[in-house]
Amino acid sequence: MTGDLKILIVEDDRTVMNLLKTTLKLNGYQYITAVNGAEAISVCSSHNPGIILLDLGLPDIDGIEVIESVRAWSKAAIIIISAREEDDDKIAALDAGADDYITKPFSVNELLARIRSAQRRLEYASGGSMDDPVFRNGDLTLDYSSNTVLIGDEEIHLTPIEYKLLSLLSKNAGKVLTHSYIISHIWGNSVSTDIMSLRVYMTTLRKKLGASAYLESLIVTHVGIGYQMKRISGEKS
Ligand code: CA
Repeated sequence: MTGDLKILIVEDDRTVMNLLKTTLKLNGYQYITAVNGAEAISVCSSHNPGIILLDLGLPDIDGIEVIESVRAWSKAAIIIISAREEDDDKIAALDAGADDYITKPFSVNELLARIRSAQRRLEYASGGSMDDPVFRNGDLTLDYSSNTVLIGDEEIHLTPIEYKLLSLLSKNAGKVLTHSYIISHIWGNSVSTDIMSLRVYMTTLRKKLGASAYLESLIVTHVGIGYQMKRISGEKS
């Protein structure tokens, strides 16, 4: 099931490391480990893991530096494991190239759900070309060449900003995008659009996409951090 996917665990806390190792082993995942940032970078280049579970508070270098270093060449899905309450650290990690985060203490089920979601993202990324003009996610279809959006067979009419928002989220499906990342990509750095306005656009976008529970769960709000389009598993909804 898990193929030859390798998961790198980067964690200096032995208790958490043991919990992660046990969880991955019981669920049939192959893993490798590192207990500090320097080792993480070196193990990463020698084993090329598909997913990295990364603790931000490491004894040698900051987890953010690990992300920047690995991101320079690796497409691995990076899931932050943060003990820190402050959103600023998660935001900095996401802006540095992390895909998702989980906050300690977390449940095993929550962790496994994030891993499956990262796997889906990797599968889609390897299956289709990045230049594919048509994006499909469950019932949602975006045709980037004609700027059209379909839910099932029905075309949805969006304003240019709403379309740009949906398009940005879809091109990064599975990844948590921070408010500042979204704002700078949609409006450019020069325009000072605030988070409140972004929230208003997101609300109308969601309304247009439809009110079904299925579609509501498509775009997830990360309070204080940003938004994420979920990858719906390939089969029919
Ligand atoms: Ca730590």
